[in-house]
Amino acid sequence: MLDIWWIREHADAVQEAADAKKLNLSVDELLRRDDRRRELLRETEELRRRRNEGSQEIAEAARKGAMASGETAEMKASLGRIGEQLALLTEKLEEAEREYRELMLLVPNVPSPDTPPGLTDADNVEIRREGEPPAWDFAPRDHVELGDLHGMIDIPRGVKAGGSRSYYLKGPGLMLHRAVQQLALDLLLEAGFTPLEVPLLVREEQMTNAGFFPTGKDQTYGIQGEDLWLTGTSEIPLIAYYGNEIVDVAKPIKLAAASTCFRSEVGSAGRDVRGLYRVHQFSKVEMVVICEPDPAESETLHEEITGHAEKLLKLLELPYRVMAVCAGDMSQKTYKQYDIETWMPSRDGYGETHSSSNLHSFQARRANIRCRDGEGKLQFCHTLNNTAAASPRILIPLLENHQREDGSIHIPAALRPYMGGLERLIPQ
Ligand code: AMP
Repeated sequence: MLDIWWIREHADAVQEAADAKKLNLSVDELLRRDDRRRELLRETEELRRRRNEGSQEIAEAARKGAMASGETAEMKASLGRIGEQLALLTEKLEEAEREYRELMLLVPNVPSPDTPPGLTDADNVEIRREGEPPAWDFAPRDHVELGDLHGMIDIPRGVKAGGSRSYYLKGPGLMLHRAVQQLALDLLLEAGFTPLEVPLLVREEQMTNAGFFPTGKDQTYGIQGEDLWLTGTSEIPLIAYYGNEIVDVAKPIKLAAASTCFRSEVGSAGRDVRGLYRVHQFSKVEMVVICEPDPAESETLHEEITGHAEKLLKLLELPYRVMAVCAGDMSQKTYKQYDIETWMPSRDGYGETHSSSNLHSFQARRANIRCRDGEGKLQFCHTLNNTAAASPRILIPLLENHQREDGSIHIPAALRPYMGGLERLIPQ
């Protein structure tokens, strides 16, 4: 959410952002709806004022016995007419407020000045690259073949149980899946994050407050007959945690959660159908940061949380690159975004494994998370988020990059404490 006065002053930039982010929003129409609701509000207030004055006059006259009964009846009738007009006007005002809010919820954050222009991920710009993709003199297996070989990924049975884009992880597959997440969580604990277990079923209001509804509603599974939605990321309950509160951000608030994520993946039919890349249910360790609304501070924190994900990838000994995401590839709420893409041999390219965003005050305004500035005035905070580890997608580079010709898989030293000290997975 942006401030309506700010939108008025930056109407062209907001429209440009809406077009780039492919949101069906006319800023002119939004401003017209704002004008209309303000006009109705003024009229309603005027009528209320007249009704109150009239009531007071009648009460005063009755107290003094100063008015003929005909006059009183006339005044009461006039008050009755004002009441009827007020009821009609109130209905119109509520409708106008609804129409205004409907469009306000579609307003995008305007991307940072250093965001690359562009409409799709093809326009994202690489800003750094770490590590080298492996060069093999044997034909490498993809993660599905390796999963079969080790009996650790079972997609056919996943599909039998849960339909398309479902899977089982078994034995060492599950151990690796949990090991990466525990390593990620431990790194975040070291970096001062507070870990939380969070509700994964949340009310619609919280989906809207975090900026996932209305635009992402078709990506979300709802519970029939209840106002409850399965979250696609723990960012939603982490933001809900401080919703409608005034927080102390003298030191940034750093929250982490490990949660199951559910996504309908509507619109991705036919894309990434093989293996574990795009599934309906996965696990993610997520970071959320809430800080002062100081652009320099949130910029520094954005670099910091991106660095946490990079540290994990270095510990996993995986080649990756950091991409500055273009306006058209960003979500509605994002001000600035980096995606981290990790080398996936089976894709013969880099695939997104992490997404790090600075939302400035857009999300905090929707969720009403405020802090006091130096003068004691209330301000909306800045919020940020990043993936620490999302699995099973991260298993793709982990298994594929670390395979050996005999089908065994090297386990990076950082994961071994979580794998009973195992240095290598040997096909059984
Ligand atoms: P997002 O919350 O959409 O920024 O996604 C964060 C990370 O979650 C991505 O970078 C992926 O690693 C992972 N992810 C997102 N969607 C899926 C999916 N459908 N299947 C598997 N992993 C996913």
